[in-house]
Amino acid sequence: MSIKEQLKNIKTELPDGVTLVAVSKTKPNEAILEAYEVGQRVFGENKVQEMVAKWETLPKDIEWHMIGHLQRNKVKYMAEFVSLIHGVDSLRLLKEINKQAQKHDRVIPCLLQMHIAEEDTKFGLDEAELKELIQSEEFKAMENITIMGLMGMATFTSNQNQVRKEFASLKSIFEKLKQELPNISVLSMGMSGDYGLAIEEGSTMVRIGSSIFGDRNYS
Ligand SMILES: *Cc1c(COP(=O)(O)O)cnc(C)c1O
Repeated sequence: MSIKEQLKNIKTELPDGVTLVAVSKTKPNEAILEAYEVGQRVFGENKVQEMVAKWETLPKDIEWHMIGHLQRNKVKYMAEFVSLIHGVDSLRLLKEINKQAQKHDRVIPCLLQMHIAEEDTKFGLDEAELKELIQSEEFKAMENITIMGLMGMATFTSNQNQVRKEFASLKSIFEKLKQELPNISVLSMGMSGDYGLAIEEGSTMVRIGSSIFGDRNYS
């Protein structure tokens, strides 16, 4: 099936209020333009350099989301244009984003990434670290970032019950966080293999790559 057909099929499955981030990492501009031509405007990348290169050449009404693990020294390259940073998992990183946003006289929307999976290879905060971060004076003083919500990745497993449990735990952390940050509205969870479960458990934003663009070849 073509990218356009895949995209249309996925969109008809998504309930109202669930945003689709088309994950275009490793894919060429032509693939992104195919999706763009049928109305897709939100794209996700996990490498800053690659995202910058695409932003420079592709239509300017595309919203670029950084979904990958982010190094502090890379923030400056995308501070001018990034629409949402999904993977914020430390106060130090948030401070750098705030600083670079200030240079461009803008506020950068961010998601805090939670560690919900069993594997310890996946990045993210635990609940105690989340609490410490949002209660710190430094966090409260930052004026050039805004926390829109939370992001998480489930364990890579065929055990649906486990994946569902992990998404449900992220949803419950999200609901608790709302008491402290009443304006949060984004719960970014769900990828090609598990977005159906994620939506059932309360996702408002799914990040889908291979189901739209096909398998990725890392060389
Ligand atoms: C690559 C990636 C995705 C998309 O994965 P697919 O399985 O291709 O849908 C989603 N989220 C993050 C953080 C990713 O790095």
